Amino acid sequence: MSTKVKEPKSAKLILESKANRRTMDREQCHECKRWRSPAWKYFKSNYGPVHLCIRCEAKVLDRSFGKIDVLDRAKHHGHFYARGFRQ
Ligand SMILES: [Zn+2]
Repeated sequence: MSTKVKEPKSAKLILESKANRRTMDREQCHECKRWRSPAWKYFKSNYGPVHLCIRCEAKVLDRSFGKIDVLDRAKHHGHFYARGFRQ
């Protein structure tokens, strides 16, 4: 009998700091799970240090710091609250 536990759908990656460093190594992007080079290492997130590719970086930054589009942010927050208040 397997002891493997089915994991709940993981929470989205949220950066806690914009501190980052570009790396020329091939790294697995936390967001899209693809191996990319160059990649950016972000030191603080809800998953600890993570790597992001150039395509996902803007998306995750936007999600984390919500500075770009008010509409988009409202949508995101709506989604967040919808999960907490499931009807
Ligand atoms: Zn990516």
